[in-house]
Amino acid sequence: MTASHDPQPTDLSEPQRKRVLLASPRGYCAGVDRAVQTVEQALELYGPPIYVRKQIVHNRHVVSTLEKRGAIFVEELNEVPEGAMVIFSAHGVAPEVYRQAEQRKLRTIDATCPLVTKVHNEARRYAREGYDILLIGHAGHEEVEGTAGEAPDHIQLIEGPEDADRVTVRDPSKVVWLSQTTLSVDETMETVERLRARLPLLQSPPSDDICYATQNRQQVVKKIAPDCDLVIVVGSRNSSNSMRLVEVALQAGARAAYLVDYAHEIDEAWLEGVTTVGLTSGASVPDELVMQVLDHLAERGFTEVAEVTTAKETLTFALPQQLKKDLRAAAAARAAKTAAELADRVGH
Ligand code: SF4
Repeated sequence: MTASHDPQPTDLSEPQRKRVLLASPRGYCAGVDRAVQTVEQALELYGPPIYVRKQIVHNRHVVSTLEKRGAIFVEELNEVPEGAMVIFSAHGVAPEVYRQAEQRKLRTIDATCPLVTKVHNEARRYAREGYDILLIGHAGHEEVEGTAGEAPDHIQLIEGPEDADRVTVRDPSKVVWLSQTTLSVDETMETVERLRARLPLLQSPPSDDICYATQNRQQVVKKIAPDCDLVIVVGSRNSSNSMRLVEVALQAGARAAYLVDYAHEIDEAWLEGVTTVGLTSGASVPDELVMQVLDHLAERGFTEVAEVTTAKETLTFALPQQLKKDLRAAAAARAAKTAAELADRVGH
């Protein structure tokens, strides 16, 4: 049986037969779309193998699909043969990684999301101006490592409100907080409040570091969660924004919330006694995986699907400069070859 994916008029509070509230926006953000396209286009243009430092985006399905096409994912650059092509993931890298790439004479393409680059730029600027920077984020996350690497002497990692109570700074009038792009908005603000209680002159980033995609996906989950017996988030465990969606769903009133990579991971017991399922996905998840969950739910009687939309997203990012340049050169070479072949034929 196939679920009808056509959105139905939404009355969230009306008692229903078994139904799905499908969150929108969900899934791919502009940064992920660009990063995945970068690897796909690079594979086509330069041919495999293409090395990628770290998972290009935090999603098992995306990574295994690209692996089948010839991408090789490595943890560190010493696994890449000298002179090879390597792509840096959407999460960004510290300046030290560029230096290593140069030493190994690697050809690089940087697929760092421009919204992560924005935070790197802020970190560099505040460090230059002598600020202490309190970076709110998760230890060990690649994005945090990349941002912290921009100014290690100026940046302290703040993992949550408890860290706020321990922080010390050189000059309390020159301190700013920045954050990882994929955090829970509410938890981050709680941490900021705790920091500000100790450091009243704490400055905020010039614009939100938590990106539009993270915020939008959390906002729609907050809207549907109170009406859901169960919220299913499609996403991988190492995806920060996907994990946050599970937490946000529970905080906003969902009776239960789980993360799955694939439809077959849905435990039948989760659906017992459930009338309304909320469904969403993290920013690194292709929508085909969400459609497979809809099909799975339809086979279990959840045939009514209402899409709940709280924002429209239109943002897109251009491909990385180097790739764009090489694609243009390849297109020009193809056009020249075609013209030469044509001239040859006409000549004969
Ligand atoms: Fe960029 Fe936000 Fe997507 Fe991360 S989640 S890749 S910061 S748009």
